[in-house]
Amino acid sequence: MNKQELEIIKQKAIQEHIPIIMDETLEVIKTYVMKEQPKTILEIGTAVGYSAICFSELIKEDGYIDTIEREEEKIKEAKENFIKVGVQDKINLYEGDAVDILPTLNKKYDMVFIDAAKGKYTFFLNQALRMLNPNGIIFADNILYKGYVMSDYNKHKQRTAVRNLREYIKEVTENQELETQILEVGDGLAISKKVM
Ligand code: SAH
Ligand code: MG
Repeated sequence: MNKQELEIIKQKAIQEHIPIIMDETLEVIKTYVMKEQPKTILEIGTAVGYSAICFSELIKEDGYIDTIEREEEKIKEAKENFIKVGVQDKINLYEGDAVDILPTLNKKYDMVFIDAAKGKYTFFLNQALRMLNPNGIIFADNILYKGYVMSDYNKHKQRTAVRNLREYIKEVTENQELETQILEVGDGLAISKKVM
């Protein structure tokens, strides 16, 4: 793992306003990954590969990450970044819309990281649950969406997203197979552990 390259990738993403995982959110997930050592990770929303790279250095030797991205330019950059940092053997990039790709996957994952279109979170959740191993965990980033989710905000273009994020929280909270925590780190992080 080339740490210097990783820092350059991070700074470039910040400069270009690509919404990469926030430091404090990353710390929470890293702590979990170091402790539980997931072997297989599914990430929905690669962007330029920053979070996938960060996770890849922590997983088991024979582990791997599948990550999904739909924007051509990001896909190209992510692939270049994986090579630059030297983690290309640990990360599979699925190119296309996660809404189309997820139903075609039939694998088992120890951890899922949901970090893509907010209006699709409940769809992603159901796909994640279908492929989650016992004792697996699902992290959903941006779950509080700048505070909109917990306020009475329901305006304009964020409306569908806010509605879906609220529905996500409801579903994970009511699901008997999951133990869920909602943390106010970063833009909000939902952590749902499969306990059945
Ligand atoms: N996980 C990344 C940041 C992801 S930003 C990191 O922390 O480094 C969200 C990304 O999800 C964007 O690049 C966007 O293009 C992608 N995305 C959003 N909706 C998607 C969908 N339905 N299918 C695939 N990719 C999607
Ligand atoms: Mg995010």
